[in-house]
Amino acid sequence: MNARERVRSTHALVLRRRDVNDADRVLTVFTPREGKIELLAKGVRKTTSRKAGHVELFTHVALVVAQARTWDIITEASTVESFRHLRENLDAIAAANYVAELVDNFTDANDDNQPLWDLALFALRALDETAKLTDASAPNLLRWFDLQLLSLSGFQPQFFHCLSCEEPLQAELNYFSLADGGVFCPRCGSQREGLEPIQPDILKVLRFLQSQPYAAVARVQVRPAVARAVDNLLHRYMASVVESHLRSPDFLRRVAALSAGQR
Ligand SMILES: [Zn+2]
Repeated sequence: MNARERVRSTHALVLRRRDVNDADRVLTVFTPREGKIELLAKGVRKTTSRKAGHVELFTHVALVVAQARTWDIITEASTVESFRHLRENLDAIAAANYVAELVDNFTDANDDNQPLWDLALFALRALDETAKLTDASAPNLLRWFDLQLLSLSGFQPQFFHCLSCEEPLQAELNYFSLADGGVFCPRCGSQREGLEPIQPDILKVLRFLQSQPYAAVARVQVRPAVARAVDNLLHRYMASVVESHLRSPDFLRRVAALSAGQR
């Protein structure tokens, strides 16, 4: 392998960082072509360091990376988007944290995923833009983000047709199934165990968030009680997807291999 192949450039979003050795830091970053990777920023905790490690959480950075044995090493870093405004707003920071955590949970190494890269950047830009203009955080953004992320990852819940008879769902009391990832009509749902009733106004909001661009979603005011019910359902669904599908034996093996390889 020649020197040219050992060095590469990539854009990256900083998802996590942790201290290692005396002065180094390992960054977990999400990239559009390589998925989620860990990179070593050497010497960045020394007070004299002017290098790579000044990359903050959830900044969009351009990196030059050199191949190495345990972690590839960041040799140059420059900020592309700092999302400076969202950092001045506690709600926006919490929302950005949530976005970074979900991207972290739903991605892997070698996961070429330009659509998810675009979605994550879109969400951070929306938070930054809203924080610049107002005191509020971006309306409905995280609920919309949840549903777009689920669609991109192959876990899209079915809100338009009955999971059993496939008839279009009507504006009436239907049944939601966390385990099956979608809704059953009253006829099919009444014959099954373990379902929960879902009110028509809640289903309507979920459909809207799932099928509309953010520009449309941002303009809609959802009644607080409905928003709470939507949040509750989405949180439980996200948690069940992460638990049952993503924290797979594969995932656990990778984590074990990773921590064994650090010494
Ligand atoms: Zn049905």
